[in-house]
Parts: sequence; structure tokens; C-alpha cells
Amino acid sequence: MSKYEPEFQQAVEEIEKSIQPYLDQHPEIVESGIVERLKVPDRSIIFKVTWMDDNNKLQVNTGYRVQFNNSIGPYKGGIRFHPTVNLSIMKFLAYEQIFKNALTGLPMGGGKGGSDFDPKGKSVAEIMRFCQAYMIELSKYLGPNMDVPAGDIGVGQREVGFMLGQYKRLTGLSNGVLTGKPLSSGGSILRPEATGYGLLYILEYAMDDFNESISEKEVLVSGAGNVGMHAAEKAAQLGAKVVGISNVSGTLLDEVGLDIPLLKKIAYEEDGDISDYVTVYPHAKYYPDNKQIYQQKCDIFLFCATQNEADESDVRTLLDNGCQFMAEGANMPLTNEAQDLVLASDILYLPGKAANAGGVSVSLMEMSQNSSFMPWFAHEVDRHLRNIMENIYNTISKTAKEYNQPRNFVLGANIAGFKKVVDAMNQQGF
Ligand code: NDP
Repeated sequence: MSKYEPEFQQAVEEIEKSIQPYLDQHPEIVESGIVERLKVPDRSIIFKVTWMDDNNKLQVNTGYRVQFNNSIGPYKGGIRFHPTVNLSIMKFLAYEQIFKNALTGLPMGGGKGGSDFDPKGKSVAEIMRFCQAYMIELSKYLGPNMDVPAGDIGVGQREVGFMLGQYKRLTGLSNGVLTGKPLSSGGSILRPEATGYGLLYILEYAMDDFNESISEKEVLVSGAGNVGMHAAEKAAQLGAKVVGISNVSGTLLDEVGLDIPLLKKIAYEEDGDISDYVTVYPHAKYYPDNKQIYQQKCDIFLFCATQNEADESDVRTLLDNGCQFMAEGANMPLTNEAQDLVLASDILYLPGKAANAGGVSVSLMEMSQNSSFMPWFAHEVDRHLRNIMENIYNTISKTAKEYNQPRNFVLGANIAGFKKVVDAMNQQGF
């Protein structure tokens, strides 16, 4: 593992620290070298993507797909388009995805892909041409039983649709090789909502276990994208008051409770920004500073933006201001130091590997619908999603209790996920 891959190193350190109590009981696991074997991806594919911009000029970006581990099932994990994408970020995301997917109890391995292409400021035609160019190379490595990508930051239904079209053009195949597709192109109902809704479902199960309820609580959400928006929506549906949301440019606060349908309209129908909200509700406050969200008071904080979005000082302020519940829609949103602080505080904290697994779970349901040619109804998808999140909560809670740390769901998630992956790897000699 290279010290030049800081995000990957951070993710590995978090896992290895928290599974130590399990390793202490199982010296044979350490002896078998599986901890080391697990850190090496099956393959990291890096390729050139050349595409034509609107001025007929050829542009070049780097494309990635890290196929990390398929011991439990086909590689599964999203595609991210963001200028910060590099091999370290791809490897951390793919590595975490292995354990997350294992926790769902569904047959999925771990992978992740993306590009340093920045969709911001690009025309729809440019985004389409980029997606098509990216798929020319990626298509060689995909298959419904081999590797099935989905969306992530910068990649939603529209981009998945463009990639699917190119895959069909290149291969002539029409199968479940991508998930998160638009509904009319074989997507699953509730897939866009699944990560955010799943986050609230698992939080609901956890809070219920501790005789608490989401209803009436004040909620803050960092990130106003696919995950953050749907988390805010479900929180409001469950009776909470969502008092703030942020994006990369700023923080929006409304002490009366945000009007989520209006926020969705601004984002999805008007292609606007959260700051536009104050023109409709002048009592709301907008700060052009994404860190303001961590300075506010709340009962529940939902981290739904990006890796390392919050550091020790952000988390300390949230705790000092009385935040009692935290859950991660994003992957690795806390620095390891910030996470240690949260764990030491003994508040109820659900880490991303467990808490944001709803999206990939509904992706597996999408694969199932595609292979059976039988779409499901919304209530069926929602019921399965709830069941999966409940099972994940029960698994991490049971594991945490086994190690006499009943509130340490980082330990619970990491040990439970690790055990499943290690079993499968040993059975297959990986
Ligand atoms: P989107 O691209 O839809 O949204 C990301 C949001 O986060 C945008 O509102 C963006 O702002 C905002 N953002 C980025 N950096 C910051 C920051 N430093 N502070 C505040 N806001 C910020 O991505 P998703 O919602 O799909 O993904 C969000 C997170 O959830 C990622 O970590 C992703 O890996 C994870 N995740 C996503 C899943 C999915 O199904 N999509 C599944 C599981 C996890 P702006 O729009 O202004 O750039």
C-alpha cells in the first residue's frame, strides 16, 4: 500500500484498527495473510478517454475502473465523474464497497470507477460524448455476472442512460450491465431515492432500538445531491424538521424547516442552486460557505457530501452544540481523527458502510428485475429496502454487542463485513 494513496490508506487504517478485537481472537486469520491479500485489488484499469467538446476540439481525461474483490459476487460499485478523481480515491471507494456489499447479505463484490472529467459547466451534448467515449474502453470489462457499475458523484440517471446506449451500440447486448438507469431504459423505481431513504430507515431502526424517534428532531444535511436531497426528503416525511442543507458553494438554513419539494424543484426542474431558495423564503439564511453547516445546532446530522468533508473541529462543534445522532450517506465523510472523536463521545453514530448501503441494495434489485424481465412496484422495492436496512442494523448491532461495545457500529460493521468477505475468500483460495 502506497503512502501516495492517502484516501486508500485512510480507509484501510480505519478497517484494520476496528477489526483488531476480532483478529486478536483469531491469530490464524492474521497468520493466513488474508488481511494483506484483501488490500490488493484484483485489477485497476486506467485508460485514456478522448472526447470532442462543443468547439470541435479534442479533450482528454483519465478513466478508471477498480475491480477490487469478487469473492461474494460480481464487482459492483458506482462511477464518479469529478475533477478530484484519482487512483487513491477509486481504490478507497472500491475497498469500502467490498465490506458494504457484504453487509447487505446480497451477492455482490466490490468495485468502483470514474474519471477526472468535470461535468460542471459542460453542455448536455458534451456530457453525452464524454460518457460514450468513457464506455468505449469500459465496455470491455463489464458483464451482468462480471462487473455492473452504477452512479455516484456527478453520475445520475442521465449519464447512466448515455453509457448504457453506448454499451448497446458496441456490444449489441441489452442486459443489466449498469444500474441506476432511467426508468424507461430498464431502471428500478426508487433507485434514485434508495441511498437517502435507506439512510433514514437504518437510522429509524437504530433510534428505535435506543427508545428514540426521528419525529420532531432537528436535522442538518451536508450535500444537496442525490443522496442528501432524498435523505432530507425522507427525514421530513418521518416528521423531522430539516433546518439546513449545504452544497459545495454554501449553506442554506431555515429554522422553520426547509420546504423540501421546493428544493427539489429548484434542483431538478430549474437547474438552480440551494441559494435560490431565499428568493421564495426571505426569512431563510444563505451563507456562501459550506463549513457553516457544521456550526449549527441540531439533533441529527446526516453527512451526505463527500470524503473527508468534516474534520475534528467540525465534529467537535457539532457535539458541543448538542448533536446526538450522526449517520453517513457519503463514503468516509469524516477524517479518521473526527471519527475517533465521535466514537469517544458515545453518541449514536452509523458509519457509511452500513448506513448508505440502500443504494447498492436497490441496484441489486434492479439487476434482478432486468434478468427476470419483470419490473417491481414501488411498494415492493421499498419493503425490500426497509428489510435490508433492518437486517444490516441487526447485524452490526449484534456484532458490536458480541465485542461488548454496543454503540460502536464502526466496529460492528467492519467486523461483520470482514468476516463475510474472509470466509468467501478462503473458500475460493483468493
Ligand atoms: P451528487 O453529485 O449527486 O451530490 C453531491 C453533493 O455534495 C452536491 O450537492 C455537492 O455540491 C455536494 N458537495 C460536494 N463537496 C461538498 C462539500 N465539501 N461540502 C458540502 N457539499 C459538498 O453525489 P451523490 O449524492 O450521489 O453522492 C454523495 C456521497 O454519497 C458520495 O460520497 C457518494 O460516494 C456517496 N454515495 C452515493 C450513492 C448513490 O447512490 N449515489 C450510494 C452510496 C454512497 P455541488 O452540487 O455544489 O457540487
